[in-house]
Amino acid sequence: MTNDGKSLAVYPGSFDPMTNGHVDIIERGLSVFDEVTIAILLNPEKQPLFTVEERVEIIREHYDGNARVKVDTFSGLLVDYAERVGASVIVRGLRAISDFEYEFQMALMNRRLNARIETVFMMPAESYSYVSSRLVKEVVQLGARVTGLVPSIVERRLQEKYGPPPERRKRR
Ligand code: ADP
Repeated sequence: MTNDGKSLAVYPGSFDPMTNGHVDIIERGLSVFDEVTIAILLNPEKQPLFTVEERVEIIREHYDGNARVKVDTFSGLLVDYAERVGASVIVRGLRAISDFEYEFQMALMNRRLNARIETVFMMPAESYSYVSSRLVKEVVQLGARVTGLVPSIVERRLQEKYGPPPERRKRR
């Protein structure tokens, strides 16, 4: 609970970039909690496609005007960040069994680090269960369209990085 009595959940991740799978989980989070803070992990070891600033800007633009969705960045322990912002819940998405092992370990480690913070798993619509930021980047780079798999702003930003998909280029 925050000071003003609202239930706040933190949704951590890389969001490089945000996909409709993430959006689906955020919407489900909003159906249970008053506010969801999307917390982008500052990870100097990963080479992202979008800078942290770009990722924040994309998410802000997508959720423009929705006061229940916040965007922030964090480094260090997630449970410390959650405690600091007054969140008692961490939301994570579970796509498939393959996500389970890692998520299970993380959830139990986080519980050991801070038992006051609970991890809640949510499942996306089946239509997004195969979508990942990594796969989206990979196929866009190879010239595929990802309409419907990412918010339109993300589609535009991906095009700025990689150029338009081949079928949109003028045919000779
Ligand atoms: P991380 O690097 O922490 O995995 P991601 O941005 O890839 O960061 O994912 C953040 C969270 O969103 C994770 O819990 C991940 O399982 C979840 N997630 C990612 N894509 C989807 C999707 N298509 N459907 C449901 N959850 C998803």
